[in-house]
Amino acid sequence: MASPVETEKNPIDVTVIGGGLAGMAASIHLSRAGLRVLCIEADVADTDPVGESLDWSAPDLLKTLGLPMQSLLDQGIATYKRHVVLKLRNGSEQHYVPGEWLGKPPFNIDLRTLHVDRSQLNRAIREIFLASGVTLIADRVVQVETTGRSVDAVLTASGERIASKWFLDASGSAASLFPRTFKLPAYEYGPHKVAMWDYFSVSESIEGTTLHTDGAGPRYMEWVWQIPIHPDTISVGYVSPGESVKEKRQRGLTVQEIFLAQLERFPDLRGLVQSTDSPRTTSFRCRVYANIAGPNWLVAGEAASMVDPMTSNGVTAALRQGAEAAELIIRYRNRGRISRLAGAMYGQRVLSLARFFNSAIENVLYDWPIRNRIGPFQAGDMYTIPAWSLNVVYSRLRPRGFVSTTFFRLLVGSLRSLIGLFHWICSRSGPSPAVSAAALSG
Ligand SMILES: Cc1cc2nc3c(=O)[nH]c(=O)nc-3n(C[C@H](O)[C@H](O)[C@H](O)COP(=O)(O)OP(=O)(O)OC[C@H]3O[C@@H](n4cnc5c(N)ncnc54)[C@H](O)[C@@H]3O)c2cc1C
Repeated sequence: MASPVETEKNPIDVTVIGGGLAGMAASIHLSRAGLRVLCIEADVADTDPVGESLDWSAPDLLKTLGLPMQSLLDQGIATYKRHVVLKLRNGSEQHYVPGEWLGKPPFNIDLRTLHVDRSQLNRAIREIFLASGVTLIADRVVQVETTGRSVDAVLTASGERIASKWFLDASGSAASLFPRTFKLPAYEYGPHKVAMWDYFSVSESIEGTTLHTDGAGPRYMEWVWQIPIHPDTISVGYVSPGESVKEKRQRGLTVQEIFLAQLERFPDLRGLVQSTDSPRTTSFRCRVYANIAGPNWLVAGEAASMVDPMTSNGVTAALRQGAEAAELIIRYRNRGRISRLAGAMYGQRVLSLARFFNSAIENVLYDWPIRNRIGPFQAGDMYTIPAWSLNVVYSRLRPRGFVSTTFFRLLVGSLRSLIGLFHWICSRSGPSPAVSAAALSG
């Protein structure tokens, strides 16, 4: 890793803030195109990375970085994900598998995707990133200097002032540096949520992601993920509204006790209770910003849009947005500023997809009306069929210009409105559960 750079002596073309997936993906694409890239990362130790169950579009995006599916499997970084299982406390379960038609022309999608060990994946991408010539510095951006809608420089905690022609904000959802600097409009979804998770050794695992939940009943759904990141290691995590965790903490429960109580509730997970210390935790709010492109800057990854973990769409979004943001800088490198239309189209694509994923998962699964009306298994179908198909259509259509982006936005907007309408109808046709049973237990 390089020591802090003197940017006047070593001019750089692009400053990338954040060396997570979006920042590293963008840096690699930019550097391969011959741009001089400086990436500033506050946590080079990469503490507790998340994002282990990948959507079907992610493997192709990893391949463009130099990490084809087979090499990730051969290196023990990934396991196959062939389906998603929704498993209820009463033992019933439903398997969600991508439709056979997706594997046939014109889609030709590989019907397998991956679970990944995120620490190992991040290390593998970082090797490619450093080998591609990107300069990485360990520092934290604390201030953004602007003139009008342009970014001039960023100031770091160690006192560096870093100026460049182009900037990419990939600082993640907790920081969202440019959206906050430019006070960009935000759309928020669902309550603040808390996730707590840990890793367990198992004798065998299945080639799928399992979501454990109560199913029909609770007003707002809480759930536990089970992801086989290695054939003998599973990641298990509990996601809950922050208020529910706060209330349990006020009753004197520790984070570990809250986590263990959740594992106890599901027959498959009870056996794990003896082998956990203090779980890792994080909190988040699902949200997406509008207008995420300026004349010489863009926002990518969770800094632009935080999609709910249940959608398994964050990794795809980060890699895809990193690639598209890099594409725009490369296209406009000689002109010196991104065309307003191209920047607006990029922003619209990010906005429409994040709004769809977040509103669909909230309306169909987290919230009670649709889940209780048609049952959790059919609600699972109602979410997965359009959500998985949209990602496939996006990967194949590769919308970039006005016409393809508008077509895609209309498609996504119509699906979102239909689901919103159905949620409204269901909320009027059944009694509202008063208090979450899950929130009262444990
Ligand atoms: C609990 C949970 C579970 C998830 N599970 C899944 C899943 O199963 N599948 C899936 O696809 N997605 C999942 N996601 C989402 C996925 O992990 C993320 O969308 C993805 O990793 C985001 O990558 P990113 O590069 O945008 O952000 P990050 O990985 O957050 O990277 C941002 C980087 O910026 C750095 N940074 C922050 N501020 C500054 C600053 N001021 N200066 C310099 N650097 C800074 C940070 O240190 C960080 O390294 C999950 C998310 C959560 C919260």
